[in-house]
Amino acid sequence: MDKCLFCKIINKEIDTDIVFENDRLIAFQDINPQAPLHILIIPKKHIPTINDLETSDKNLVGELIITAAELAQKEGFDKAGYRTVFNCNEMAGQTVYHIHLHLIAGRNLTWPPG
Ligand code: 5GP
Ligand code: ZN
Repeated sequence: MDKCLFCKIINKEIDTDIVFENDRLIAFQDINPQAPLHILIIPKKHIPTINDLETSDKNLVGELIITAAELAQKEGFDKAGYRTVFNCNEMAGQTVYHIHLHLIAGRNLTWPPG
């Protein structure tokens, strides 16, 4: 998977503003933020889409979501509100095929999304 952009970020081949990292996941600032806070939380395991998740990934996915909540709290957006999103495949706007949880906050977010 040496062509995967996010695997390159995990391997520190691309300069990235990393906000959290452990053995299983990494969180970093989105290069094109859609709100004052826009962080991507990704597993270090290469998984193209959430369709490709296996039952054995359930702890990993849970940790992505818990990490998003912890980062939202750390950044002071837990009370005001924030959004977490996994885009899956083309019609949802997925552009990088290594799963990533968007954490977005800091402005009023409309619903339904575009
Ligand atoms: P998707 O559209 O696949 O759900 O989200 C991909 C996200 O990755 C986009 O929000 C985009 O701005 C972000 N992104 C794409 N390339 C890079 C990059 O090289 N560095 C960082 N930090 N974010 C990126
Ligand atoms: Zn990858």
